Amino acid sequence: MSSPTPRAALAGIPAYVPGKPPTARPGVTAYKLSSNENPYPPLSGVLEAVAAAAGSMNRYPDMASTALREALAARAGVGIDQVATGTGSVAVIYHLLQAFCDPGDEVVHAWRSFEAYPIGITAQGATSVPVPLTSDGRHDLEAMAAAVTDRTRVVLLCSPNNPTGPALRHADVVAFLDHVPGQVLVAIDEAYREFVRDDDPLDGVQLAKERENVVALRTFAKAYGLAGLRVGYLIGPEPIAAAVRACSLPFGVSTIAQAAVLASLGVEDELMARVEALVAERDRVTAGLRDQGWAVPDPQGNFVWLDLGARTTDFATFAEAAGITVRPFVDDGVRISIGETAANDVLLGLAGDFRKVHLRNGPGDPG
Ligand SMILES: *Cc1c(COP(=O)(O)O)cnc(C)c1O
Repeated sequence: MSSPTPRAALAGIPAYVPGKPPTARPGVTAYKLSSNENPYPPLSGVLEAVAAAAGSMNRYPDMASTALREALAARAGVGIDQVATGTGSVAVIYHLLQAFCDPGDEVVHAWRSFEAYPIGITAQGATSVPVPLTSDGRHDLEAMAAAVTDRTRVVLLCSPNNPTGPALRHADVVAFLDHVPGQVLVAIDEAYREFVRDDDPLDGVQLAKERENVVALRTFAKAYGLAGLRVGYLIGPEPIAAAVRACSLPFGVSTIAQAAVLASLGVEDELMARVEALVAERDRVTAGLRDQGWAVPDPQGNFVWLDLGARTTDFATFAEAAGITVRPFVDDGVRISIGETAANDVLLGLAGDFRKVHLRNGPGDPG
């Protein structure tokens, strides 16, 4: 009997492993620190805008997301034609790969980095060219520039890097771009940019305005707390944004999601105060972990990375028993999101206990 077969490229797609929800255990408060979500509930003004928009759910949304793109364009100081939106910036990345990559084309990206990259690249039939991070979890921009060949169509930069944490600095990215040929599209994924505290922070939108081959990708999932509503966007040169829009899912971004973003932009001061509090918590957690002896790469997002190697699964299991779900990357390390203060306190306690039980002789101790 014959049956339909998917394209051969699909056999090579790595699985996306979503952050696990916490397991309920009697007597233990459970916290999900596995998906880099914002722990704050929606502001009432945003909820009200969502409720009002829900009243028109029998209608399709504005397919061009006009009001939303106008607002984003005005904030970025670009024309509306330089904006493309999607159901999360992950969708925008997929549409960009669809728009620019033929089978066999190469896409250069750091590794380990965002797990959606190799999935989107492989699904498109393109070839992923992973360039190892430095030992402190940073992009190796020199090696990435050297990995660009005449088959390279796209370079993906992730800053701050998910899952390790460090951010790229503006001057370093400028120097990198000077080494990349103009026909190669450089996409700068700035999903966590609001959490960066650096004296030379990367500004992808600025670079996208200055260069013909650069786009910035941003999202409302993290700092703005709208992960469940799925809105992300791209700012870039008009021909690139148009190509991405051409590949976009029709009516992807719902009326509810568009309304939530517009309402969120109206209460940005309150949202950024929450980001400030999360940054303070991040710094507190990092200092506490380092005091315990952990080597934590400079965290510039809303998460920290512990390089646990072969102990990764042990740590995730240990954390789970204490009520904290982390995101393990087997035999590599764990990514832990910054949550509410109580969750962060539990994390600090269990991380210290884990060292006492499993890492008697300091980091790297195989036990
Ligand atoms: C979370 C995240 C995104 C955006 O996710 P969406 O929810 O699809 O907007 C993009 N890039 C990285 C590196 C992320 O961690």
